[in-house]
Amino acid sequence: METQKPTPVIQPWTKEFWKATKQGKLFVQHCNDCNSNIFFPKKVCPECWSENLSWIESPGKAKVYTFTEMLDMVEPKFMGDLPYVIAMVDLPEGIRMTTRIVNCKPENVAIGMNVEVVFQDVSSDCALPMFQPADASLRIKTADQEESVTGAPEAETGLKPEDYQTIQYEIGGKNDAVCFITLNRPEKYNAINRRMAAELIDAFRRVRDILTVGVVVLAGAGKAFCTGGDLEIFPSLAEHQNSLNWLSHEGLDVQRAITSCEKVVICKINGHCLAGGLEVALACDLLYAKASAKMGTTEINMGILPGWGGTARLPRSMPIFRAREIIYSGRKDYTAKEMYDMGLLTRVFADDEFEAGFEKIVNNIASKKPIALRMGKEIMARSADGCDLETALAVERNGIQWLTYSPDIQELMDQFRARPDQLTQQQKQQNIKSDVNK
Ligand SMILES: [Zn+2]
Repeated sequence: METQKPTPVIQPWTKEFWKATKQGKLFVQHCNDCNSNIFFPKKVCPECWSENLSWIESPGKAKVYTFTEMLDMVEPKFMGDLPYVIAMVDLPEGIRMTTRIVNCKPENVAIGMNVEVVFQDVSSDCALPMFQPADASLRIKTADQEESVTGAPEAETGLKPEDYQTIQYEIGGKNDAVCFITLNRPEKYNAINRRMAAELIDAFRRVRDILTVGVVVLAGAGKAFCTGGDLEIFPSLAEHQNSLNWLSHEGLDVQRAITSCEKVVICKINGHCLAGGLEVALACDLLYAKASAKMGTTEINMGILPGWGGTARLPRSMPIFRAREIIYSGRKDYTAKEMYDMGLLTRVFADDEFEAGFEKIVNNIASKKPIALRMGKEIMARSADGCDLETALAVERNGIQWLTYSPDIQELMDQFRARPDQLTQQQKQQNIKSDVNK
């Protein structure tokens, strides 16, 4: 069964190992020269560099060396599995494996516990070895656990656009070249809660793999773009660990999902764009605003500072003396026009011209080759990140070289290029003309 989670990359020297897992067998590599047992399988023996390696079948009995319980997770694809136990287990063959302990309540897992191997199918080529308590009385067998061990369809645990509750996700535009992601909690001015953060991360990672899409439009439903993190979750952040998770998992991972989605992300600032909302906007590639939109970073009024990249990105996005005023003043009434004059936004439209003007810009950019937009985003990100000019020029040269030889662009170029020896005199004349006309 296929799953959406990442699956092991099978190499020539690990092929036998993974093949065995499909038959419910745990293979350990053995060096015939120095008699070492080796895990994970390698090309050569790490002890003596011999290539004279073979396989032994392990009975799959082990003892827990150490373990930890996963309660939170950055990667949405694994969120459905939470909570789960990651452990290192020692096998009598003298090897230590990193694995999961399954079929057991996390509170019943203990160091020194005897465990035995079970296999979870993840693809047509491999199953993952995991371990369950050897003592059957410690095992649990709820319907959920049964499924997770035999390999529940990932679709039932991971997020899907149909399940989104706080955002809208739609592919559209000419040639399906635009993905519209809309923050959809208008009654809360699109404040970001945990659910919305997880859905945004999922949506931006999802769209990365859609080849027709060159542009993502990030907008807010109703009157606001986004007013930042939902203050209602603040009491639950009193615990320091929660607070760190909120900053790094939800906050920064939403931005990383935007900056690494390989599409040109166009932010449509149709209304209030404050605090964390402005910080999310700063992660986008282009910022278009309605003149009446109000903007600012208000965190300092609560005695804190922008924590989703504001202090890092604002000074990189505009003249620093103006960025400092925005952060220190805590004003929430900067107009879009003021922000534009201070050097932040791409463009500002009068309210009644906003929709039409925005649409025109999106359609134009979306008509370009997605692969060229992607490369442009990557090259400019490297350059804007402050590398020296020579490096930036080298990155640019490599990027264009790569583009020129991508199949997509080759096809386009082939239309302009035929082998000269096969051309008639008349065609040659035409080619010369069309070159001149360029
Ligand atoms: Zn060896």
